[in-house]
Amino acid sequence: MSSKYAGVFVRTVAVVGVAAAVGITIGAANMIESEAAARPQVKAVAAASQQPTTPPSTPATHPAATAKVVYFTFDDGPDPAWTPQILDILARNDAKATFFELGQMADRHPELHDAVLAAGHAIGSQSYSHPQLTKISAAKRHREITGGPASKCFRPPYGAENAQVKAEIKAAGMKPVLWDVDSLDWTMPGVDAIVTNILTTVHSGSVVLMHDAGGNRSQTVAALEKVLPILAAKGYTFAALDC
Ligand SMILES: [Zn+2]
Repeated sequence: MSSKYAGVFVRTVAVVGVAAAVGITIGAANMIESEAAARPQVKAVAAASQQPTTPPSTPATHPAATAKVVYFTFDDGPDPAWTPQILDILARNDAKATFFELGQMADRHPELHDAVLAAGHAIGSQSYSHPQLTKISAAKRHREITGGPASKCFRPPYGAENAQVKAEIKAAGMKPVLWDVDSLDWTMPGVDAIVTNILTTVHSGSVVLMHDAGGNRSQTVAALEKVLPILAAKGYTFAALDC
């Protein structure tokens, strides 16, 4: 069964596709990974075309080419009130996701940080204490960008970035990762509104913004519980970003 490999292949292609479509900044690491993942299939196709006598018993299109994937992301945690509930929902739905943690929250709740990793999810950094990085001194900006949890992915708080912020993220060995679907869960618009926000804008390769800390996230939890089975019924799987 090659579903594991297939998932990796689709994931990398989809992320690059999103980068092109919505301008998300994807670093060189993903590009390299996507090339590496894509190469075997390109070779296989090329080999097939050079052997016209091979019986056409295998489908020309790899099943993975039609798979659909969504990357859920949860910001500002880990938080003892909400992160365990979200981990539970993800596990019950066979879903992996990415948690963009704050350094100060991970320091406070190291057992939750470890639980996220142990469950097979990815960790991204969202700085140490969530300042708007475009509005603080260079010294503080440097401390905030380098003071988050260890990761290859960095999400600037509020999505606020400029050339300096981007350069410093890169210098710290990370790539900036934003999102293309804002669930608006942080505005607490109601469970159904959060679900609708996701369903009306999601497509394969989407990076969905949600929060597992920073306020009362009961609506986020309930919306996640609702939306995952709906998306699964539409053929989506849920993967972690390469962080
Ligand atoms: Zn945030």
